[in-house]
Amino acid sequence: MIIAIIIGKPIVNDWRRERWRRQPFSKRWQQFLEQNVPIYRCLPSLLKQQLQNHIQVFLAEKQFIGCGELVITEEIKLTIAAQACLLLLNRKTWYYKDLSVILVYPTAFIVPREVQDNAGVHSQERQVLEGESWAMGKIILSWEDVKQDTDSFGSGANVVLHEFAHQLDHEQGDTNGVPLLDNKASYITWAKVFSQTYQQHCNKAARGESTVIDYYGAKNPAEFFAVATEAFFERPLLLKNEYNQLYEQLCHYYRVDPSEW
Ligand SMILES: [Zn+2]
Repeated sequence: MIIAIIIGKPIVNDWRRERWRRQPFSKRWQQFLEQNVPIYRCLPSLLKQQLQNHIQVFLAEKQFIGCGELVITEEIKLTIAAQACLLLLNRKTWYYKDLSVILVYPTAFIVPREVQDNAGVHSQERQVLEGESWAMGKIILSWEDVKQDTDSFGSGANVVLHEFAHQLDHEQGDTNGVPLLDNKASYITWAKVFSQTYQQHCNKAARGESTVIDYYGAKNPAEFFAVATEAFFERPLLLKNEYNQLYEQLCHYYRVDPSEW
């Protein structure tokens, strides 16, 4: 199933991406990002330039679909693309190769879920979500939450960073909190640091202690990686202070140091 989908995807030649990257970035878009995407304003100018190039590729390759009568606008596309592409800076990237569609709802959306209680009994419940990432080519986002998280940059919550971190996590085949790394030594260090920090985080969450990483990360290692990514970009100094080794691993993986911005 997975193989069929990967083979079925159109092959995007590097030269096409290079052409999209080289297109002049619209002044209007630049102004929009300066005024409406606070994290963009913080970036050093070389990274801003790189981000603009990635945004052009991202917008050329990904399809945005409005759901629940939402009309997709330039504002919606740019706000999502800018933050999604933040995770690609300075790295060899496949531009979220398994992702083809971004579905956007006006507000939080309801999905049916099968849940299991402590006795092992399965039942259906309806969950309200602000975002969801699927391994099979799509991300679903609530525009209201995207806008709120973008505007309140520094709060630590960012649904775009969260869902796109899940996509990166999935690049090596499983979504398990271990993204694609350089070599065996990197995997060993990652496993050591992440498992220790995850355990500490679960203990803090269980005791109700304050921590820079959202308690939701205690759900499983995949969610831990996603919320740690949010904290890394949104509250870098606090994360560095609380979990220095984790911060270093994320610097190494994302090839940026947001504490310097
Ligand atoms: Zn998640």
